[in-house]
Amino acid sequence: MPLVIHNTLTGKDELFKKSKKPLKMFVCGPTVYGQVHIGHARVEITFDMFARYLREAGYGLFYLQNITDVDDKIIARAKEEGISPVALARHWEKDYMACMKDLRVTSVDRWARASAFIKEIQEQILRLIAKGYAYETENGVYFEVRKFVDYGKLSGQDLDAVRPHYRIEPDTLKKDPLDFALWKRTSKDDGISWKSPWGEGRPGWHIEDTAITEKLLGQQYDIHGGGLDLKFPHHEAEIAQQEAASGKKPFVRAWMHVGLVTVKDEKMSKSLKNFLTVEDFLKKYSVDILRFMVLSAHYRSPLNYSESLVEQSRAALSTVNEFLGKLDSVAVSGRAGAVSRAVTGAMAKCEKAFATAMEADFNTPQAVGALFSFINGYGASVWTLTRAESAAVRSFLLKKFSVFGLVFKSSAAPASVRALVRKREIARISKDFAAADAARAEIAKAGYAVEDTPIGPHLKALEAKE
Ligand SMILES: [Zn+2]
Repeated sequence: MPLVIHNTLTGKDELFKKSKKPLKMFVCGPTVYGQVHIGHARVEITFDMFARYLREAGYGLFYLQNITDVDDKIIARAKEEGISPVALARHWEKDYMACMKDLRVTSVDRWARASAFIKEIQEQILRLIAKGYAYETENGVYFEVRKFVDYGKLSGQDLDAVRPHYRIEPDTLKKDPLDFALWKRTSKDDGISWKSPWGEGRPGWHIEDTAITEKLLGQQYDIHGGGLDLKFPHHEAEIAQQEAASGKKPFVRAWMHVGLVTVKDEKMSKSLKNFLTVEDFLKKYSVDILRFMVLSAHYRSPLNYSESLVEQSRAALSTVNEFLGKLDSVAVSGRAGAVSRAVTGAMAKCEKAFATAMEADFNTPQAVGALFSFINGYGASVWTLTRAESAAVRSFLLKKFSVFGLVFKSSAAPASVRALVRKREIARISKDFAAADAARAEIAKAGYAVEDTPIGPHLKALEAKE
């Protein structure tokens, strides 16, 4: 089962064979000037799942993200708030890191701040000027898109069709409205700037990424990811900069774009006021629900956010929790015996279906489907498992779900509840049904339902009301 990844650039599936060299992956990180919303969270969770899978499957991975800490939006927001752009960026970077922790996004090896790569940025710009791809004006340095014949190939755009949309171009010094800034000459009151051969200024947004990746990953690497909204012009500009600077093609082996989060089929955005922050989501629901929502759609499709999607995710997680609870009861009251070939076989079949789905361009809905088929395959036969089988199945499932960053805590009932169960058993044996019912009511009050099974009473945690 070789890994194939759909490459947005070619529209084809690229083959990734396992090799001794770890894969190098870069994903566009945040511009730190405000709260993380569900659209960002989807991108972060998606690549975190893929990174977890690649490592578990033995591919080896170095995962890099940038942090845009110098940008027009940061400067504008800092002016509004009367603080320095650096102070604003550090504040929101801290907020972002705390958010990633809450989301269990743990697989990034390195975050690189743009402001720490000014030397590399300037060096790349110098090369682009020397090779004739960039020119200087009074306002800064610009990339000349007409010089790079492949410009537009990622987004498949006919530039002459795009150009009229740029008619109202405030910068008349540019040769073409599509030319983009590599270096912006700035005024002192922006509060952030560096010396350069082209005057005091700061980098354009696109050049940050290629300067960082050229330094840390090299001129060519394996996977470049990001949200679909970054395809044009951001990723298009990255290809132009890096391929022009190095003369090497392709810049990356596969471009991966994560679909947008939509609400009633409209893009989630601040201007449409259908915007949901991660903080607000997590006030109401668990991170597991959010991660389940993300994996339930293929990463290239839009994810339509709705209350019913939240409920579906919650129900799916309950199914897993219930099954694990049954395994817990089997671990205590089940029979002795080794792990049978039937159980080993079922796990191997599930493992294979899971890997096949993930290696086919990370088909997470299909991969999670394999886990649910495995669980649903048990039904009442779960009570016939041995204690050893229960333990093996449990650890198999926890390991597979951890690829998605899902965590299931043991739902073992506290000793006080287990004591009530024994009280009820004794009452039942002595046919004191009133006492047995009273014990059952107390068990329910403690948040559990008691179910009689072939191996004795099983405690099921009742859903916590929210
Ligand atoms: Zn980027």
